Amino acid sequence: MTAKSQEARYSMLEVALAQLDAVAERLALDPGIHKRLRQPQRSLIVSVPTRMDDGRLEVFTGFRVQHDLTLGPTKGGIRYHPGVNLDEVTALAMLMSWKCALIGLPYGGAKGGICCDATRMSQGELERMTRRYTSEILLVIGPEQDIPAPDLYTNEQTMAWMMDTYSMHRGITTPGVVTGKPLLLGGSLGRAEATGRGVYYVVKAAARELDTPLKGARVVVQGFGNVGAVAAKLFYEEDCRVIAVSDSKGGIYNANGLNIAKVLAEDAEGGSVTQHRDGDRISNEEILELDCDILVPAATEGQITQKNADQIRARIVAEGANGPTTPEADQMLAAKGTAVIPDILANAGGVAVSYFEWVQDLQQYFWHEHQINERLSEVMIAAFQRVVAMSRKEQVDLRTAALMLAVKRVADGKRLRGLYP
Ligand code: NAD
Repeated sequence: MTAKSQEARYSMLEVALAQLDAVAERLALDPGIHKRLRQPQRSLIVSVPTRMDDGRLEVFTGFRVQHDLTLGPTKGGIRYHPGVNLDEVTALAMLMSWKCALIGLPYGGAKGGICCDATRMSQGELERMTRRYTSEILLVIGPEQDIPAPDLYTNEQTMAWMMDTYSMHRGITTPGVVTGKPLLLGGSLGRAEATGRGVYYVVKAAARELDTPLKGARVVVQGFGNVGAVAAKLFYEEDCRVIAVSDSKGGIYNANGLNIAKVLAEDAEGGSVTQHRDGDRISNEEILELDCDILVPAATEGQITQKNADQIRARIVAEGANGPTTPEADQMLAAKGTAVIPDILANAGGVAVSYFEWVQDLQQYFWHEHQINERLSEVMIAAFQRVVAMSRKEQVDLRTAALMLAVKRVADGKRLRGLYP
């Protein structure tokens, strides 16, 4: 069996469960609580009949999984993708529980999605599908129950349709039912930038911890989207040398540092970072193996595997994407002493500002952008410090430390609440 096929045998849910089991053992978790955490609290599968533009009726399958409601209502994105299935949504809901618990939000984790190819659907089809899906999951969502947000191939327009559908059913405008909305409908300043900004804050804290000055540090960012482009911009503004960035078409490399302001301006005109002229073309495989101080995988899952982990030369790897490192690669990086800032910490800035959006909606009182960024920085740095302290105390890598803190918090909540009835 090849290295790749060996790695490919794990589903996302198997990985999430294996991580939970390992942490439960380290924490000597109560076996009953461990069993409860392995299962999602609620899973809803719905049919989403949708009239297509050509008059045909299509029936899509939608999901909403609430992993755990111990610490508050559940929170998590909605993705539209052909690969969406119950196992994947369940795994992602579980990861959301850990992410929210780790950074101290009063939420449990949830996730939802529809198995569909949104790239081939018109705006009208997407709107009709979104509205029907929302009405089918109306039973389980609400500002005090479960609060969806955008994820892959959903955006602030999707959230506006969801909010409107929910509000029309309830008869009152209810902005707090979703986050990631347009500003005009109760969205938050700073939400669009929040995940990339959060990555930047934790890397800054990690660099301080490792005595690596950020000024002049060589940064590589794989994936120049919502997360990666914002992180690259902030590193560039901090006088780091962002030596390479990439998107799905490939990357560009300049050992002296790219002018990210220029790359961003060109990107805004459409196209790809590969059209930028002040750098050499580089592939998405090569970009990961560049000699650099900070590597931010911010594209898709499974990018750092046992095939390339040995070639990773960065001192700090900050997981902007969800699940960019396979479990085998994770062990190899840990053995080499690479500081991997795990996804549940590194990319938690998005859900942190989603929480701020929900708080603002409930109070109908909106904050300034600088207040949001300051509070985001506090949340991220405090979480980073808790993770570092745990990793030192238990002599474990940052991912294990983060999971131990998160799982313990949810388990403690369960113990205090007891078992009903
Ligand atoms: P996005 O669609 O805005 O950007 C993704 C970028 O990655 C694009 O530039 C795309 O061209 C590029 N890309 C796609 N496949 C690639 C590949 N194989 N190699 C290199 N580049 C590739 O998405 P995003 O919102 O920035 O999300 C990126 C990752 O971050 C995802 O894993 C997502 O789940 C995770 N994440 C996002 C948020 C958020 O708030 N947006 C929050 C938490 C986690």
